Amino acid sequence: TLQVAMSFAMLSSLYGDFMQAVGASIRIFDLMDRKPEIPIEGGSQIVDMEGSVEFQDVFFTYPSRPDTQVLKGVSFKVEPGQVVALVGPSGGGKSTIVNMIERFYDPESGWIRLGGNDLTTLDPQWFRQQISMVSQEPTLFACSIKDNISYGKDCTLEEVVEAAKQANAHNFIMGFEEQYDTLVGERGVRLSGGQKQRVAIARALIMNPSILLLDEATSALDAESEHLVQEAIDHAMKGRTVIVIAHRLSTVRNANVVAVVDKGKIVEQGTHEELLAQDGVYKRLVLRQLMAGATNGLDFNINNDK
Ligand code: ATP
Repeated sequence: TLQVAMSFAMLSSLYGDFMQAVGASIRIFDLMDRKPEIPIEGGSQIVDMEGSVEFQDVFFTYPSRPDTQVLKGVSFKVEPGQVVALVGPSGGGKSTIVNMIERFYDPESGWIRLGGNDLTTLDPQWFRQQISMVSQEPTLFACSIKDNISYGKDCTLEEVVEAAKQANAHNFIMGFEEQYDTLVGERGVRLSGGQKQRVAIARALIMNPSILLLDEATSALDAESEHLVQEAIDHAMKGRTVIVIAHRLSTVRNANVVAVVDKGKIVEQGTHEELLAQDGVYKRLVLRQLMAGATNGLDFNINNDK
């Protein structure tokens, strides 16, 4: 019996190891996917880069899922200082488009241009400084709030404070005993989702990028936090080219271009009014949300059961 029990114990610990290994390899594949074969340095840097972004017939398949083409000929253009809102059902390819602007991946075919220049010809380190991303769940590092905002950039405390004020983060930061020296992360204070976003927006402001990538929050923040985050985002959008995965009606209404992404394609493109005038996917999404009694903005990010 002892032997049986022992082999059982061994088996189950092996199973645990196996499952751990599976988990690890999934994570490794995930990381491998995010590392395109791009040169670390080299390529051009453009003085006075205009912040236009253009996709032309972009096709893309994730290396880890060779059987599924995720983007199937995506084309759109956003002019410097304009806003393009990506909307559409879950899994349509919105995040993939945004990730490709940061060049986590290169297109299988077609091209992406920043300021009229093919992304693959630009110095990766340089162009990443022209782009900031504010995601729904921003990653903060286990260091001080000041360092999280300055993000390795050589800047004064005054500059950090100014950015935090613009991002509506200054007041809550001053509420901590250690203020800008407060540690965040596992050994530090825990910030709410809205506070994290405001720190990420302050970081984006410090970087002063010509292009801002935004993933609007889907999960409802409390009303006060929502208002503060929205005001901060409005500040950050000013004077920049913005590509936003949009969930709020006010965002799509104000966008210069709304692009409806569905099954790897842009199926409709135009202003909010133009798209409503068409009897298409966009109008259906809006109507369905209105009928569902959406009060807290519109969530376009729903499963499309057509
Ligand atoms: P959501 O609104 O739910 O975030 P989305 O429109 O942003 O969806 P993507 O996240 O771009 O869509 O996903 C498009 C497709 O690519 C989906 O089928 C998804 O499963 C797949 N996908 C996304 N990320 C990866 C990845 N790292 N590896 C493999 N497949 C992926």
